[in-house]
Amino acid sequence: MPSKDRYEIVVVGAGPLGLATAYHLARQRPGRSLLVVDALAGPGEGSMGASNSMVRDVFSSRDNRKLAGASIGFYRHLMESDEALREPVPLLDLYGYLWLLPEPERAEYARLLGEGPASIDARPVDLETLAGLPGLATAPPRWFEGDRGGRPPAITGGLFGRCCGAVAPELLARYYHDEAQRLGVEFSFGSCVQKLSFEGREEILLHEETQRPFAFQEHVRDRLRISEVRFGDGGSVRADQVVVAAGAWSGRILDALGFATACSPRPQGTYSVAGPAVDALLDWRPDLEPIARDHGRARLPFVILPTGATLKPVFRQRRLWLGCLDTVSRPIGTLEDPSREGRLEFQMGRLVERSSYATDLLPAISPYLPRFETAEVRLDRCWGGYYNFSPDGLPIIANEPYGVVFVGGDSGSGIMKADSLGRLTAAACDGASEGTLFSGESYPVERLSLVRRDVEPERIIL
Ligand SMILES: Cc1cc2nc3c(=O)[nH]c(=O)nc-3n(C[C@H](O)[C@H](O)[C@H](O)COP(=O)(O)OP(=O)(O)OC[C@H]3O[C@@H](n4cnc5c(N)ncnc54)[C@H](O)[C@@H]3O)c2cc1C
Repeated sequence: MPSKDRYEIVVVGAGPLGLATAYHLARQRPGRSLLVVDALAGPGEGSMGASNSMVRDVFSSRDNRKLAGASIGFYRHLMESDEALREPVPLLDLYGYLWLLPEPERAEYARLLGEGPASIDARPVDLETLAGLPGLATAPPRWFEGDRGGRPPAITGGLFGRCCGAVAPELLARYYHDEAQRLGVEFSFGSCVQKLSFEGREEILLHEETQRPFAFQEHVRDRLRISEVRFGDGGSVRADQVVVAAGAWSGRILDALGFATACSPRPQGTYSVAGPAVDALLDWRPDLEPIARDHGRARLPFVILPTGATLKPVFRQRRLWLGCLDTVSRPIGTLEDPSREGRLEFQMGRLVERSSYATDLLPAISPYLPRFETAEVRLDRCWGGYYNFSPDGLPIIANEPYGVVFVGGDSGSGIMKADSLGRLTAAACDGASEGTLFSGESYPVERLSLVRRDVEPERIIL
């Protein structure tokens, strides 16, 4: 439980966004009283722990490119300046992303590179190089056995993203946690926030029964404030400001305050597979030029099929982690509701059924990799977490004058933008109009707000 009964700032959620925010808040002004609470047992155990934890700077939106590119730059800097983040497991392994593209998308990605050559480190890949990818059918004859529809689109080329790869989530979470703690931030794990309450300053009245404000009070500036963070076990602390970085569960706390996040949480599954066809893929040494090499050679990159299905190589375990963006097969929302239950029973294994491997995933993979339909690939285990989708695929930082800031809307790419979002959320808490990214660039916080949003929608969501 928290050691004090009052804090200047309480951050709800020790996922990548809450951790990075707490770290940058403490860096900006060491010594202020800051508490991070999380319902789970340690840092990064929410959707971050269920994720692929990949990073890329290939986005269609300039803003996403900036936010991700600067965060990746920071993670690279950390790794370069600390040996413990290089060995035995590197914080960042930039082995690359490989998009396998049908013609219209290939042309679109080529345009994207032409638009901003300086900001995307990516190169076209020809069919000859792709032909070496073990088991790949570039022009599949059918979707799946028995399907009488048209043929799946043929792959006509590829795109190789160089400043892309995997980040070790436990190292990243541990870095932010330990550094924030060193700067005086207090952490309380196993503390589930059930409710945030208002306080009426200078005699302002609250509704007696609900302790909610009256409608007109929204317009009485500076007198209505957030004041209390209540936990599921009955305890509470007082706070001058609250940052809600509770990922997919943020709406569960904020809806009750009348604070709109505009986000839709949706479950996303991952399927770990092994077998001879997986080994053949993992042993591929493509003629590509990644930033991180293995004994001087390129390895299998993170592969994106034309269906949106993805294959993440997990070299040490000799596994591939498969996924496919899913916005139709399951309803919007989280299974868990901390505001009702007073606890967060997030179980990654409960979110995905093994049977959905055959129905949702294989049909998106096997046309292009037919060996996946055979006994050469076996399902090992599966689990899920949440993508918290914003309407346009860019993150949201919303700041209410009564002292609540929301950061979220990761749309499945929050880890790769966490450092930038942490810096901007910290700036928002201090009332600054701009934050400075690791790249040195100033970035207006309002651009990611809901009321003065100024971004182009993202088209590359994986
Ligand atoms: C299958 C899958 C693959 C993904 N792949 C990638 C990828 O390759 N790259 C990438 O960048 N992102 C990826 N993501 C997305 C990534 O996981 C999220 O963007 C990221 O975790 C969002 O960070 P967050 O801090 O907002 O949320 P979370 O990581 O979910 O953290 C929120 C924290 O808040 C806590 N919390 C919630 N409610 C309460 C409460 N009431 N009281 C106290 N604590 C609370 C939770 O316990 C949790 O620790 C993937 C996600 C999934 C599910």
